[in-house]
Formats: sequence, structure tokens, C-alpha cells
Amino acid sequence: MRWVELLTGEEVPALGLGTWKMGVGEPDEAGQIDALRTGLDLGLKLIDTAEMYGDGRSEALVGQAIAGRRDEVFLVSKVLPSNASAKGVIAACERSLGQLRTDRLDLYLLHWRGHTPLAETVEAFETLKRDGKIRHWGVSNFDPSDMEELAAVPHGKACVANQVLYNLGDRGIEWDLMPQSQEAKIAIMAYCPLGEGNLVNHPGLAEIGRRHGVSGATVALAWLLQKPGVIAIPKSRSAARVRENAAALDLGLGAEDLAALDHLFPPPRGPSSLAMV
Ligand code: NAP
Repeated sequence: MRWVELLTGEEVPALGLGTWKMGVGEPDEAGQIDALRTGLDLGLKLIDTAEMYGDGRSEALVGQAIAGRRDEVFLVSKVLPSNASAKGVIAACERSLGQLRTDRLDLYLLHWRGHTPLAETVEAFETLKRDGKIRHWGVSNFDPSDMEELAAVPHGKACVANQVLYNLGDRGIEWDLMPQSQEAKIAIMAYCPLGEGNLVNHPGLAEIGRRHGVSGATVALAWLLQKPGVIAIPKSRSAARVRENAAALDLGLGAEDLAALDHLFPPPRGPSSLAMV
């Protein structure tokens, strides 16, 4: 297993399971539950979901997948900015706990920044923490200046993670957000680690994968896993593809591979605005 140490000293799995677009009424929901359970069996014990996904139906699917296994899982959900007021956060968290059939979240994120003052949302997160409903809180889609503002509000420095778009094809955060986060010991949760699937058939990745006997998807995830403080949350509805993704835990990329990847997917040469989907 690979781990990322949070600000609090707790270690969390560096490779987890995304759930966007899961549980939304497709006929293979049993297969999707099997995919999530397969991930847990393979050590991918962090599950990322959100109240937004399928209007709570993704959370409900996760609730079924973790039934009887709750204590194994580091469970992450997100509150919408439209629910980020003092009362809204508490109510949204209660709804998420209900969908997930659990009594607490391990990490609760503000999905993206809205109009509610950050201080109000943070205070609500801290109330949830005191009440045992969440163990940690964080944010998502926050750029470096958002993170500076957050650090300046009361308890703002208790933020443990920022979930952002990060993959080989979108390396902009390496310029500023990533060093800033590493300095503050705030974990980066890399969403769309496979570029929403667009990276999996990249011929250059497939070529590197062939040298190691793995797929291009496995290479893309292994690249993220060698970045300090980064947690990757690939999503797959298929147990076979979850196995392929879990193989990234055993793949060590050498200097030659990393140089080839930098050549194929160059790092940023200057600041850019934060990419998001
Ligand atoms: P992703 O994980 O980069 O890619 C998912 C796509 O890749 C799906 O189409 C999946 O298809 C396919 N796939 C997965 N493993 C594969 C493999 N080994 N071989 C071939 N295809 C594979 O994209 P994502 O789902 O958008 O992002 C991951 C998670 O990040 C989300 O599920 C969500 O939890 C989170 N997220 C957060 C935000 C935010 O604003 N905070 C935004 C976007 C995403 P199958 O399912 O059919 O395998």
C-alpha cells in the first residue's frame, strides 16, 4: 500500500475509488457495487463521493457497497456550494450520512467555492467535527488564492485536503498549488486521474506500460502515486478495470519512464488558472 500522511498525522490510502456517474440507474448497479468491493479487497480503501452525484444516488450505492465494512473505509463526501451556509452544511451532512447509511464521514469537502463566506462554512465543518459527524474537512477546486483566503479565516488552517483536477494531461497545479499545498501539508486529491478516460488509450502510455507488462491506465496512476502528498481517485464501474488500476500500487516507474512521461506530457512553464471539470 501507499499512504499519504494528513496534517493530523493520520495516514490515508494514496489510491482510492471515485464514484461520479455511479448509481444513477444504469442496469449494472450490482456490477458497480462489485467494482467498489473489489477495490476495497485490493486495498483501495478510500471512497470519494458527493451529494451532487446522481442527487444522492451515488452515495446510496456507496452505502450498499460498504455495508458491513464501514470501519475499513476512509469515506469522503462533498457539500454543494448552494448548501454551504451554517445550517445548510449541517442539513446536507445529515442527508449524506443517511444515503451512505453511516454515522460519520472521514472527510467532508466543500465541492467548489460559492457565495457563502468561507468563515461560515468552516465554522459549520468545525461544529460537525465536534459533534462526531465528520472527522476531517477540506475543500475542492480551490486555487492558490482561495487557499490563502481559507488559511486566514478562524480554523481555516484545519483544512486537510484540496481535491482538484490533476493528471498527466493537466499538470498546471505543479507550478503553484502543489508546492503551496506540500508546504502547508494539505493533501492534493487528484480527480479525473485518468483524464475522464481520455488517457487510457494514449499510445505513449501504452508503450511505457508494455515495458512493465501493465496498461497505460496503470502507468498514468503510478505516475500520480509517486508524487508526495497526492491521493488519486480513479473511477471505474468494472471490477476488472479496478484491478488494472490497483496494479499501479505495485508499479515503480524509473527515471527513464519519468523522463519519457515529461516529454510526452510536459510540466507547466508558468502559472495558469486552475483547470476544473
Ligand atoms: P477518471 O477516473 O479520470 O476516469 C473515469 C473513466 O475512465 C470512466 O469512463 C471509466 O470507465 C474509465 N476507466 C477507469 N479505469 C479504466 C481502465 N483501467 N481502463 C480503461 N478505462 C478506465 O474520471 P472521473 O470519474 O471524472 O474522476 C474520478 C473521480 O474524481 C470521480 O469519480 C469523482 O469521485 C471525483 N471527481 C471530483 C470532481 C470535483 O469537482 N471534486 C470532479 C470530477 C471528478 P468505466 O467506469 O466504464 O471503467
